[in-house]
Amino acid sequence: MNGKSQIPDSWVCTKCKIRHFGFAQCHNPSCFEIRKEFEGYKHLITPQFGRCVISGAETDLELPNGDYLWAPYFLQYMETGWLNDKCYYTDAYYEAHPNETWRDFIYREFWDYPREILFRYKNTYYLKSPFDDNADEYPDIYTLYLMPDLKADVISGSWINLEKIAINTLGRIPIGNVTFDETRRKKIDIGFLSSIK
Ligand SMILES: [Zn+2]
Repeated sequence: MNGKSQIPDSWVCTKCKIRHFGFAQCHNPSCFEIRKEFEGYKHLITPQFGRCVISGAETDLELPNGDYLWAPYFLQYMETGWLNDKCYYTDAYYEAHPNETWRDFIYREFWDYPREILFRYKNTYYLKSPFDDNADEYPDIYTLYLMPDLKADVISGSWINLEKIAINTLGRIPIGNVTFDETRRKKIDIGFLSSIK
């Protein structure tokens, strides 16, 4: 972080007047007011506390990818452009963290594993493992596509035939060679890309 941020670490609850160090929500059991900067991010506030992935401090803010962040760090990340409007890490975040091999992803269709995955690593990649009607099961392999930059309406729309706009088909990867976070729904380790290129 550049240290120029003006975001205060502590805040005073407007309702019960208790000062909090970190946290997005007041945890006075008779209050639960939300710090005003987090009004638009209520969906990220968790009733149970987690440990901030940077500092280990207790926090009530969980990113969609499962990372807990101390609330002032979250505001700094937003200010720095390290989180996008959906609160996923941006390319700028990864450029600032070149050794980070985990990437946030979004997916469609889940059977043991996500069967369609979009993630960013400098470019947009698409992994697909569709149901095989002939075999009557899901295959244990992904096809990897290099994609053009996708507009928001494409990402939020149907992914049927998405591979048809791929720039390139890069190869096939056994699903067992791909490492996910423990939920298999949030983060993917991009280490497998090195076996492709
Ligand atoms: Zn309060």
